[in-house]
Amino acid sequence: MIAYISQNAFWGLLISAVEVYKRECFGLLIGYRDRRGPDEMYIVEHALPFQSAGRKHRGVVSNPRAHRRIERFLRNIPQLSVIGDFHSHTMWGYSRAASRPSDTDLEGMTKENVYVIVSINDRLREVAWSYNDDGSLSGTTDDHYFRLTAYTMTATGEPRRTTILCPYAIGFDARRVLRAIK
Ligand SMILES: [Zn+2]
Repeated sequence: MIAYISQNAFWGLLISAVEVYKRECFGLLIGYRDRRGPDEMYIVEHALPFQSAGRKHRGVVSNPRAHRRIERFLRNIPQLSVIGDFHSHTMWGYSRAASRPSDTDLEGMTKENVYVIVSINDRLREVAWSYNDDGSLSGTTDDHYFRLTAYTMTATGEPRRTTILCPYAIGFDARRVLRAIK
């Protein structure tokens, strides 16, 4: 299983997390599930933040009425459907943002969907965007350090890390490097 993150979705995830930092953001992942290849893929085309999510330092309370309105709106657009959700985990005092789902996060997870946790911390030094051995993706922007981790649920209801594929993020770094040497 692979979670493919488009350029659009990549920026959506980062901007949503930065906007409310150091509070947590919450939103929906819009796209489709591609079952054709050898590796089943979740194609994440958009990351749509919930402006009405109640934000706390630890945890996000989503607004069920707003959620239903968005689901209803999307039902009329056949090529877009909700394939999961995302939220951020942020630094808390000196402790770095976790990349694993909390017990509350796990309660809301279902087998059909994919979940992205955006861990966001203050940036200490510049780190090139790259894939990690555990399937997550990390890197820095001017002010923040990010780690994007995707999860799906196994048939027995266990969370499983899902490999993220985001060619844009990797290319984005390469272009910055190219600009720097010019
Ligand atoms: Zn969480």
